[in-house]
Amino acid sequence: LIRLEKVTKRFGDHTVLDRLDFSVDAGRHVTLIGPSGSGKTTILRLLMTLTKPDEGTITVGGQRLYPAPEKQVREIRKNIGMVFQQFNLFPNMKVLRNITEAPVTVLGLSKDEAEERARELLDLVGLSEHLDKYPSQLSGGQQQRVAIARALAMRPQVLLLDEVTSALDPELVAGVLDVLRDIARSTDITMLCVTHEMSFARDISDRVLMFDSGHVIEAAPPDKIFSEPEHTRTREFLSAVL
Ligand code: ATP
Repeated sequence: LIRLEKVTKRFGDHTVLDRLDFSVDAGRHVTLIGPSGSGKTTILRLLMTLTKPDEGTITVGGQRLYPAPEKQVREIRKNIGMVFQQFNLFPNMKVLRNITEAPVTVLGLSKDEAEERARELLDLVGLSEHLDKYPSQLSGGQQQRVAIARALAMRPQVLLLDEVTSALDPELVAGVLDVLRDIARSTDITMLCVTHEMSFARDISDRVLMFDSGHVIEAAPPDKIFSEPEHTRTREFLSAVL
């Protein structure tokens, strides 16, 4: 479903991704792990078209995302949802409206259809009673669950998760991860996660990719990579974080 070919991304003199080849099949849950600064978030940002590669091609569902005409990019983008570390909810909109806004303005759903969808999703993330609140009236964990519902409201084929629990107090992490485990189990959505939560990575991933200096240095199912990592760098990284 997702394919990056020979993707290079530089910031000034710093080459963050170096001719990276990488793909994710439809319905798979892939987790990116690796040291800080190794380029994991940059991959998600490229797929979200928040930044562009310097070289290479990116395709999603067989269609070019980069390089591609703007109209095509907009169409593909509708199929990709992202949840950020910092929630990024619209602070001036109540919870329900946060979720209905894009389905109405981007997909052209009626207000009623969008609200029905939003209520189902709020039920899924356990926040049905909070639909009439502003984000600032919710805990970080609740806000992140709204952000997950908001991403799913677009019915994307792909869900990108960028360290979604890093900004949360420890006691709120489990609730968010439970919701994501549930989604991974009960939907056919393709997930690409960047996380430092190794037990979560182990639970939900079909495949874990270890990044170092802009390259995938090891890719394996979670059981294999966490118990018998092959690469020295993977072993060092895992012994530092586990
Ligand atoms: P972390 O786990 O800390 O989020 P990461 O593996 O996700 O790390 P990226 O956020 O992809 O790493 O960043 C890779 C490198 O690119 C870092 O060295 C970072 O400083 C640099 N970088 C990212 N975005 C920019 C930017 N907009 N301008 C300049 N440098 C950037």
